[in-house]
Amino acid sequence: MEELNLFEYAQKQLDTCAEILDLDPGVHAILRVPMRELHISIPVKMDDGTTKVFQGFRVQYNDARGPTKGGIRFHPEENVNTVRALSAWMTWKCSLLNLPLGGAKGGVICNPKEMSERELETLCRGYAYRVSSIVGPDKDVPAPDVYTTPQMMAWMMDEYSKTVGSHKFGVITGKPLSVGGSAGRGDATARGGMITIREAAKELGIDLRKATFAVQGFGNAGSFAAHLAVSMFGSKVVAITDSRGGIYNADGLDTEAVSEHKAKTGSVIDFPGSTPISNENILELDVDVLVPAALENVITEKNAAKIKAKIIAELANGPTAPDADDILHNNGVHVIPDFLCNAGGVTVSYFEMVQNFYMYYWEEEEVHKRLDKKMTPAYHSVLETSKTYNINMRVAAYVVAIERVVESMSDRGWV
Ligand code: NAD
Repeated sequence: MEELNLFEYAQKQLDTCAEILDLDPGVHAILRVPMRELHISIPVKMDDGTTKVFQGFRVQYNDARGPTKGGIRFHPEENVNTVRALSAWMTWKCSLLNLPLGGAKGGVICNPKEMSERELETLCRGYAYRVSSIVGPDKDVPAPDVYTTPQMMAWMMDEYSKTVGSHKFGVITGKPLSVGGSAGRGDATARGGMITIREAAKELGIDLRKATFAVQGFGNAGSFAAHLAVSMFGSKVVAITDSRGGIYNADGLDTEAVSEHKAKTGSVIDFPGSTPISNENILELDVDVLVPAALENVITEKNAAKIKAKIIAELANGPTAPDADDILHNNGVHVIPDFLCNAGGVTVSYFEMVQNFYMYYWEEEEVHKRLDKKMTPAYHSVLETSKTYNINMRVAAYVVAIERVVESMSDRGWV
């Protein structure tokens, strides 16, 4: 089977928006390709005495709006086209949130689950050293992503600092608090999503104090989302699933107790006082807010017409297949698209950069306040654009983001 080229898919999305915006062909051509990419080979002396060479990439897609930003993925199936697509999406995401940043992404082909801590540290340091000529606090700022952790960010920051000969905490984000991490990073993705849900509920006239939620996935994004739905709004979370199955209680689940149950047993299933629900059925529940927070492609043309939720808040990346979008839009389901809904993480990463530049650190409440000031206008700019052009929320988000990058390119005299 031919491998799906994610980058061609990202280019297609851009082409659709170029048509809506009637983009100049030269501008469109610049936006269709990354401005820079670095391919590196990283030798690592393994614990068994052999030397292995790992392939790595850093792709900087567009820096018209400022230094580029984007995570580093460690994955056995990493490939440069995936990294290119993700770097384009980071460009649009940072622009959508109106952050003064461009977009980038990095990756290393490796299986971190099969490597020792010492091997991983050597790999991280090797990566940081080899990309040091193109990254930096005012050039390009990486962050954690799939299978990379705050500890790895700390090693990379340390290696970069040693390479350039001064403390450069701001070269990377997602660091532990002891070396320049930001308060409020833990639940930032879910909290940002909740802010967009709050605004969507106002638009649709839904009283969140009486609203019901269903949350698919109970990891970092999903578990915080479930807790915050209760603590921020007083809503009822009636269903939760994870990879092993799900639980339902029409009167609402005690989300903190579910977390404790999962910590003890490894899953949410068999939570006392609940009935089982499958990962398919949770999507079709009659709830006010459905939060996919696990996998991609769970809402497709097969089940889109059966969705009864009024709001779908996409905390996961790519939970809705392209064919399903129009069905949902035509049925009046309000979709908060992934790169808006889950942008709280990158927004607090940006705050981490700001604090590193300042050398002064904010209290958690300050981070929450500033996150709201970024997420709320981002949501409304997408909503207004969707109404102006009569397009679905996802296409509207691309239009807002791309329009801003074009404006910066034009003001800089690039086009
Ligand atoms: P995670 O690994 O912490 O949690 C994933 C959850 O999904 C787990 O509860 C797991 O049991 C569940 N899951 C796995 N397979 C499943 C299946 N077949 N059916 C139902 N549930 C299943 O991951 P995360 O960090 O919470 O990320 C979840 C999604 O949110 C991903 O799409 C990720 O890209 C996106 N996201 C996360 C962040 C963040 O800051 N954590 C930021 C942006 C986007």
